[in-house]
Amino acid sequence: MKLRIPALLALAAILLISACSSDKSPDGSARASAALGRVIILGFDGLEPTMVRKYVSEGRLPTFARLMEEGAFGDLITVLPPSSASAWTSAVTGVNPGKHGIYGFLKTSGDDPGGAPVFNTSRDRGFAPVWEVLSQYGRKSYIVNIPLSSPADSLDGLMIAGFPHASDDEQSYYWPRSLEKMLTDYSFDAFRVTCAKNREERFLTKMQHIASRRLNLGLELFDREGWDLFWLVFTFPDRYQHYMWKYMDENHPMYDPINGPIYKDEIRGAYALADNYLAEFVRRMREDDLLIVMSDHGFGYLYYTLNANNFIQRTLGSTDNVKCADFFGGKFLIDVSGPGSEERYQSIRKRLIEGLRNLKDPVHGVPIIDSIYVKEDLYVGPYVSTAPDVLCFENPGYLFFTLPKTPDLRLLDSGPSPDKAFSGFHRRRGTFGALGKYVAAGETMEARITDISAIIYSYLGVPAPRDLDGKIPASLFMDEGAGAFQLVKSDEPGYRRPTGLGSQDSEKIEKQLRAVGYIQ
Ligand SMILES: [Zn+2]
Repeated sequence: MKLRIPALLALAAILLISACSSDKSPDGSARASAALGRVIILGFDGLEPTMVRKYVSEGRLPTFARLMEEGAFGDLITVLPPSSASAWTSAVTGVNPGKHGIYGFLKTSGDDPGGAPVFNTSRDRGFAPVWEVLSQYGRKSYIVNIPLSSPADSLDGLMIAGFPHASDDEQSYYWPRSLEKMLTDYSFDAFRVTCAKNREERFLTKMQHIASRRLNLGLELFDREGWDLFWLVFTFPDRYQHYMWKYMDENHPMYDPINGPIYKDEIRGAYALADNYLAEFVRRMREDDLLIVMSDHGFGYLYYTLNANNFIQRTLGSTDNVKCADFFGGKFLIDVSGPGSEERYQSIRKRLIEGLRNLKDPVHGVPIIDSIYVKEDLYVGPYVSTAPDVLCFENPGYLFFTLPKTPDLRLLDSGPSPDKAFSGFHRRRGTFGALGKYVAAGETMEARITDISAIIYSYLGVPAPRDLDGKIPASLFMDEGAGAFQLVKSDEPGYRRPTGLGSQDSEKIEKQLRAVGYIQ
């Protein structure tokens, strides 16, 4: 192993200290050990690892280049569906969606079936986020802008929640209340900002303002110290790539020869900005800090929008028993009841899968679907029953959208709001990077999004909940044999009863999602 002598000595010291200073959990059942240092997690929503590598090889991302050389770098395999809502929730809980119950922005088991869409919030999480457990062990967390963390949790530390914000009470977006004075001119919601045709300058100005304000606030909080876990998410790479892909891709059906040449470098600029922001935190790192860079999914081009309701109608002759589980992505819920419902369920599911398997682009004649899953193949846990019954992953360039049925039942559609349509969309592999004195230098690796929480628990010396799925990725740390980075689990279950938000303003969230082009 690549174990340097000073690191070896440090490890020996830590093992010695942790042996002497173990403290008990609140109920005495599991012991925490000494933390190896602080953990810093920087999230860049949608940062695509192949593009990071490409720009690094062109010499454009010096900080990521340093990370690859002195730290570890690789892909972060995300959950299916690779939606920001389910992916970030898996990152903060360390479990697959079958254990936390969040499959997208919309609830799959609505409180009011057939009524207005009900949105997932932090109160719908069925598993404890890492900061909740850290709080129980007296470790402080500073959490800023993680998607689907609104309303903010009360925790040992502080939290500024990320989108979407279902409650009207802006004070529920952060905790504690005393943060208010720091939040002047801070935008809680980058979700509102869209890029309509010929409004590009306005989009870019707003995005840059939101991002730099978030950075400044983040650095101010970072410098306050007193925290054990600092986790900040920037959403700008996701927004840039959703809206600006068409400008840099001359093969894109939405390529605009007038605006294309003007804005073709904007996405590259967003990656350079991410590199600058990363540099700010690397510069502030202490010797025993562990820094992780991550994204919740990757990104690629989106050429064609598929009308999901037209597909269901064509396949089954009706949309009565199959609903789309979210705004986009192939996620189908089968709804049958009454006598013989089990057989009908199986028969509908079979026909749906066959329909997906045979789906071809009517214009180009190529298969549309890459892979098809039933829920019990993908998920494990108490919330498998509320998962979409059939899920699929479209080939690059295609994406199902929940659009109203049209009389011609066309498959290729123009998208929910053509004026601000997405031209890029999520991919299944996100970005993972790590830097710190125990990280194996120059290591190329692969991790899972649930591993993020496992790494935090282990580095901070806190036992993880019994049911955690995440692991310490092989080859991340130098001392595989020494045991310091082994994940310790307690007997405590991580499950929490989701309470929901009580009354939620669906109209308000719907307005946000409409503005961003998710729904029509
Ligand atoms: Zn995302």
